[in-house]
Amino acid sequence: MWLKMIEINIIDAFSDNYIYLIRNESKNLTSVVDPGESAPVIRFLKTRNWHLDEIINTHHHHDHIGGNAELLNIYKSKLIAPIYDKNRISDIDIYVADNDLINIAGTKTKVIHTPGHTLGHVCFYMVDEKCLFSGDTMFYLGCGRVFEGTMDQMWSSLLKLRTLPDDTLVYCGHEYTSTNAKFANHIDPNNQLLKVANIEIKNKRDKQLPTIPFELGKEKNINPFLRADDQDLINSIGLKTSDPNESFRTMRLQKDDF
Ligand code: ZN
Ligand code: FE
Repeated sequence: MWLKMIEINIIDAFSDNYIYLIRNESKNLTSVVDPGESAPVIRFLKTRNWHLDEIINTHHHHDHIGGNAELLNIYKSKLIAPIYDKNRISDIDIYVADNDLINIAGTKTKVIHTPGHTLGHVCFYMVDEKCLFSGDTMFYLGCGRVFEGTMDQMWSSLLKLRTLPDDTLVYCGHEYTSTNAKFANHIDPNNQLLKVANIEIKNKRDKQLPTIPFELGKEKNINPFLRADDQDLINSIGLKTSDPNESFRTMRLQKDDF
């Protein structure tokens, strides 16, 4: 039987950010992903009496790195961040790039460069645990706004994530699920799997529980932004195209104004 080596704790930050605190008990290692704020991380670490060994950043936005400086100051952790952001994130100890295999909290992790939201954005995939930290590239039923890259780049990045195994659990950077669900329902009203997901999502949000993590396999059938090449969805949004780049762009622009 495969015993999970790690435990992933979800910490709320700001109004809708998630910070992930990864604990490997057997190796006595603790890592944090995207600490936009330091205070809630420090508070959590204190309750468990854990040291912070590593800080991992997916991209340079303040709501993902704002807590770096204070955490580095207190814990002298190693900062792991994309080489593409070397001029925008301070004090990086370990630069990572596309396809690198690194250790996070002592477990094998693949780096996936996913430009679009920002040019330097990377996601982290824990190979044995099948956990993906998707930052602001993929959200539950959504994807990040395209700020720095092109729409085509964002679609290619989502395609890379879509190749990961169906039983991958995704930990994304924000709790945007309810608003994403509204848009998904709007453009894909006949999707039965989406209707099932809606009920689960509503139950969780009514209790103020995170909808995170979510399963990638299900997501491949219900997240419109992973289905820009699905002819049924393309027809349902009334597009006369078979070019996924065009349908992706159309959906993303519609969502921006939704
Ligand atoms: Zn961002
Ligand atoms: Fe963000």
